Amino acid sequence: MEELQITSENYEALRAELVEANSNLLGVVMRDKEKTVDALLQTLKKEYRDACGGEVPYHIPVLTDKTLTESRLYRFCSRLPKGADLHVHDMSLLPAEELAELLKTHDEFCINTDRKSYDLIVVPPEEKVPAGYIRFREAMRSGVYSVSDLVENWTVEGCKNSGKNIWAFFEDLFERHASLSSNPKFAKDYYEYTFRYYCKKGIQHVEIHLMLTDSIEESEEYLNVLQNAYLSVKKDYPYFTFKIIGAGVKADDDKLAMTKKCFLNTVYAQENVKDFSDPDHPADFVIGFDLVNEEDVRLPLHAFAPMLLKAKKHYPNMKLYIHGGESLSAENENLIDAYLLGVSRVGHGLNLYRYPDLHRRYAKSEIALECCVISNQTLGYTKDIRNHPATEYLRTGVALCLCSDDPAYMEHETLTDDFFAATIGWDLSLADLKQLAINSLMYSGLDTYEKTKALKAFGKLWNAFIDDVLENGIE
Ligand SMILES: [Zn+2]
Repeated sequence: MEELQITSENYEALRAELVEANSNLLGVVMRDKEKTVDALLQTLKKEYRDACGGEVPYHIPVLTDKTLTESRLYRFCSRLPKGADLHVHDMSLLPAEELAELLKTHDEFCINTDRKSYDLIVVPPEEKVPAGYIRFREAMRSGVYSVSDLVENWTVEGCKNSGKNIWAFFEDLFERHASLSSNPKFAKDYYEYTFRYYCKKGIQHVEIHLMLTDSIEESEEYLNVLQNAYLSVKKDYPYFTFKIIGAGVKADDDKLAMTKKCFLNTVYAQENVKDFSDPDHPADFVIGFDLVNEEDVRLPLHAFAPMLLKAKKHYPNMKLYIHGGESLSAENENLIDAYLLGVSRVGHGLNLYRYPDLHRRYAKSEIALECCVISNQTLGYTKDIRNHPATEYLRTGVALCLCSDDPAYMEHETLTDDFFAATIGWDLSLADLKQLAINSLMYSGLDTYEKTKALKAFGKLWNAFIDDVLENGIE
């Protein structure tokens, strides 16, 4: 062990050396212009802390706290180029306020007037609205509903008055939004609106985790709708890219049959629905498979190892991007199985700290963690953002990306909240934020050709952001 000779003469010099050695988490070299913007970022962090009166909410209430969302630091994070969102679930892509804006343009959606369930139903415009319901657009115009009602009832904000545990409340939200996903006419507009919104928030690539539960024909039709939305958005944002990760659930009995069906649909789609958005380079559109849901009450990943090993043998091109380690339980060993199954990335990976040997293996193999800061906190895994174990993973060479998971239910702005939380909670520099954004493209499911293009596009977006901040500031 290194023997330091510490004296009162050399104490301050040694101390400064240690501060410097530990000051930059990720070591990206900053240009002079970036150093100036980094200085501004540090000022914005202090400004936000001061505005909180010495009591920064490290449990970030992003959906409703105006001190936070109206701060200059939040606006900085909103404008920041963020690279990719690699872990976001189908039909939970848009924050409640944005979803309300979109729904107002669709006459077919009706909502109940008794304000008990906040259920949306689909009634074609030429048909009569059933008793107890009102067209959504009319409900918002007449004040029967307000945006804050929707935030309260379509997001986790409503959990505190529900008497339910957070996971039960959270899963109900998916049911509440079911009418959105069962409406293919709405789907194209939903995705188009979402992709444009993502581009405006500095997100240039998205990987959506999607359960293909219907027949092969219906799944193919749905994916074609998504591709049409994608191609339409690409006309305005040529750098934007989008991929699908098929998903199933970690459950047995009847749901196991559904998971197998989802897997086979994913395999079929990978082979037959290609991404032709770049005429010079046809690529995969469906890039892999995931297994989702609450880990501590479902079957462990270990139970799916035989199925997944067999699948890997038959379909070697099918990469795995499995949810694992979203747990505080001492019995959760999903990260061990994820490693043995050769996952390309893992969803969350929160409890990697329990496994020091595995920690080294994940770092060495560059298996990236899709770290969902807001989701982890909302679902009760990390009460204080400063204690999120990802800060340690970042310092010890584990590949890590920030992801949003379920913005519709947990966030004010997709991915902005996660960058905000990490910036303030982990005290990050501009170099750290840049590296996190680059990581999200490096560890994405894009192929080498696509990745090179994406990183080049990121460089341009980043430089434009730096120049814009230097010229116009953050107001
Ligand atoms: Zn997830």
